[in-house]
Amino acid sequence: MDGFQEEHGLIYLDSAATSFCDPLVVQAMDDVYAQKLGNPRASHKSGVKALSLILEAEDVLKKHLNEEYVIWTSGATEANNIAILCPTCTGKLVTCTTEHKSVLLPCQHAPQDNLVCIGVDENGLINMKELEKHIKDKPRLVSIMFVNNETGTRQPVAEIGKLCKKHGVLFHVDATSAFGKLPIDMKAMNIDMLTIAGHKIYGPQGVGALLLSKKALQIIQKKPLMYGGVPQHGIRPGTTPTVLCVGFGKAVQLAYERMQADYEHVCKVRDTLWKNLKKMFPGVHKNGIDDWPYILNVAIPKKENVDLHTLFSQYYLFSGGSACSTGKPSHVLSSMKVDIDNYDCFRFSFGRYTTLKDVSLDPLRT
Ligand code: PMP
Repeated sequence: MDGFQEEHGLIYLDSAATSFCDPLVVQAMDDVYAQKLGNPRASHKSGVKALSLILEAEDVLKKHLNEEYVIWTSGATEANNIAILCPTCTGKLVTCTTEHKSVLLPCQHAPQDNLVCIGVDENGLINMKELEKHIKDKPRLVSIMFVNNETGTRQPVAEIGKLCKKHGVLFHVDATSAFGKLPIDMKAMNIDMLTIAGHKIYGPQGVGALLLSKKALQIIQKKPLMYGGVPQHGIRPGTTPTVLCVGFGKAVQLAYERMQADYEHVCKVRDTLWKNLKKMFPGVHKNGIDDWPYILNVAIPKKENVDLHTLFSQYYLFSGGSACSTGKPSHVLSSMKVDIDNYDCFRFSFGRYTTLKDVSLDPLRT
């Protein structure tokens, strides 16, 4: 990443945890700050101007995701909680063992008669037969992520959406890792609710959104989770942050413009790192399916008297698993039955600013 190593003395290979703001996003946010706008809920001129900027950003999300309703949140965690913790809902909840904690934990705390966590195979792919069986029982919600944040495994979301539609089941997708990196059409994929976050696509931290179909909105609207002033669609109260929404909107616009170029770039980066890892650690293998170049999750055979994590940490910023569960064994890798006793696992993740030099592994050779 240009300039990062010079500034921090380390190489950043953790873009899946957070990506740095694109300079054009910073510029867009600075422009809004410079306007000194009022509260977007205020009825005076300055408030109306702020609201118009939020609505413009909202239109960018709606256009790209093909859905009608947006609730701005503080990030993906809040969006997942709003989608799942429906206070008036009853019935079975269906999710997957490899979901992010911001899905698994609300599922445990949500009103439900029964919580079903469907398992995955060694590649991290959900057991579709098992899932279909439970969808036929008409649960109140199915929540399955698009792309896994630790391994990059992509779930068959369109196929799951079709099944949910056939059986009249509400479908929520945590698309935090996928959004802005592949096209998502909520209507075509039969997704009722979709979670996204700004800081995974070179936008600011502290802003995310839940997109909803009319059907989902009507269900969620029955009883809000939080109470306060002028809630968005009767659901999320509080002042909507104009600057962050504009920054997120700009990041989305750029992500779609650069989708193909970013994809081609990270493919080169991932392939280069994989080639270099294989040369240096002959027993290395990949965890998960190899169809998501933004993330490379690898298992390297443990060596006696060598702490590989300490070695890599001297030069690189990376993650053992999700940044949100640092220090604990990964529930995702455990679900995939990865042999964590005999292998050290690393999640390296890349983005627009990762350079081929960043993945040369030269520092480990010196
Ligand atoms: N879902 C997934 C798949 C994620 O990767 C993350 C962030 N690690 C989250 C949800 C939570 O995102 P946020 O930090 O924006 O709340």
